[in-house]
Amino acid sequence: MKHFVVGVDIGGTNVKLGIVDPSGKMVARSAFSTKDFIRSPRALIDAVCANVLALLAQEGIAKARVAGVGIGLPGLVDVKKGVVRILPNIPGWSEVPLKRVLEKKLGLAVQLENDVNMITLGEWVYGAGKGMNDLICMTLGTGVGAGLILDGRIYRGPGFAAGEIGHVPMTEDRSAICGCGSWGCFERYVGNQSLQEEAARLFDRANISLEEVSSKAVKGEKKALGFWAAVGEKVALGLIGPINILNPRCVIIGGGVARSFALMKPAIEKVIKSRCMKTQAEMVRFVKARLDDSAGIIGAEVLIRHEKR
Ligand SMILES: [Zn+2]
Repeated sequence: MKHFVVGVDIGGTNVKLGIVDPSGKMVARSAFSTKDFIRSPRALIDAVCANVLALLAQEGIAKARVAGVGIGLPGLVDVKKGVVRILPNIPGWSEVPLKRVLEKKLGLAVQLENDVNMITLGEWVYGAGKGMNDLICMTLGTGVGAGLILDGRIYRGPGFAAGEIGHVPMTEDRSAICGCGSWGCFERYVGNQSLQEEAARLFDRANISLEEVSSKAVKGEKKALGFWAAVGEKVALGLIGPINILNPRCVIIGGGVARSFALMKPAIEKVIKSRCMKTQAEMVRFVKARLDDSAGIIGAEVLIRHEKR
C-alpha cells in the first residue's frame, strides 16, 4: 500500500520536509538552510533529493510505500507541466522542469505547487477550513498572498497566478512602489516591513519587534492594542473586494502576523460587517490558520491524493 506522501516546503530561508500519513499527520520531519544551496537550481535540487531519501531511510519507509512527493515553491509554478516558471527570491530559477528532473532522480511521482496554494490545501482538508467548499486562505508575512478554494476545488487560474491578494490596490500613493511593478498595493500596507516601520514610529524604537507589540497588547497597553486594531482594519480593507466577489464561507489568516490574530479579529469583523455587502458579510467567518508552519508540508498529502482531478 502506498501510504505515505513526502511534502517539501521550499522557502527563501529554509527548506522543510516531512512525511505525512493518510490521516494528514506528519510522522517525521527535517529541514535545511536554503542559502547553503542557493548558488544554482542544481545544487538545491540535489540537496532536496538527498534530504528526501535520507528522511525515508531514517524512518525505514521504502519507496514502494510512498504515493508521491509534493513540492511547494515560493513563486510561479506551472502545475500541469511541472515547470517552475520563476522564483522571485531565489536566483537562477526560470523555466526549470523540476517535476521531470526530480522524478528521474528520486524514482517517485512528483507534483509541484505554489507554496501559498500548498498551505491552502493543507488548511482546507486538515486545518481551519475543514468541511468548507469556499474559502480564502491568506498568508500575512514579508509577502501577502492567498489561496482560493472555490466550489470544493483549488482555483489557480489559467496562468496559475490567481489569489494575488497582496497586489490589490489600496491607494493611489505613487511613492508606495511595489515589487510587482504597481504602487499602493495591499502588501505595501500590511506586509511585515511596513508593519515593522509603523511599530518603530509609534513606539519610537527602531528595533521593536511585532512580537513585542503583541505582548504589550496582551498586557492591555493601549498604544499596542491600537496598533493591532489598525492592522486589522487595513487587513479588512484588502479583503472587502475579494469577499464581495467570491462570497467565501471563511477567511483563514496565516503567516507570522497571524500570531496576533486575536488582537486583530474584532477590527476585521467590524469593518467587514459595516462595509461588505449584506449576504457576503453575514456568511463569512474569520479564523486563524491551525497548522502553523506544517501546512505547507501537510498540503502535499492533499495535492498528491485528493487533487488529481
Ligand atoms: Zn504589488
